[in-house]
Amino acid sequence: MKEIKKLSENTHYSAIDIGELKDLKDYSLIHPKNKSMVEGKVFLKDALNATGTQISFNSLPPETEQPYFHIHWKNEETYIILSGSGFFQVDDDCFNIKEGSVIRVAPQGKRGIRNSSKETMTYLVIQAKQNSLEEHTTDDGERIPVEPKWR
Ligand code: ZN
Repeated sequence: MKEIKKLSENTHYSAIDIGELKDLKDYSLIHPKNKSMVEGKVFLKDALNATGTQISFNSLPPETEQPYFHIHWKNEETYIILSGSGFFQVDDDCFNIKEGSVIRVAPQGKRGIRNSSKETMTYLVIQAKQNSLEEHTTDDGERIPVEPKWR
């Protein structure tokens, strides 16, 4: 079973390496609720000490689908498709997805995903509490003078 490598860490950050996306299939975990083995999925929250988002990298082998639909209680999810193509369904709506597709799903949306292509589908899922975003982009931040150490 593949493990996340720690790159660097200090008071204000955590940096990890999950390896190449083609090797995502080597990650596995035991689903905490139904105790089944989930392959090709890695959650990053704990490795990153994240406090506002849960991020996972996921892979689906060719012509397979996530074997269940699911909802969340509080978190919306954003799916970012990196490779492969297939279908995404939310409630009664089903539509095509491929590299570059991005889907936000409200917590209550009953969601499922299928890779109908002949290549592995890889995708990111970002979970964040619905309606938690207040200031964002340039409203949350300011430029500060720092001499880059890579010079
Ligand atoms: Zn989910």
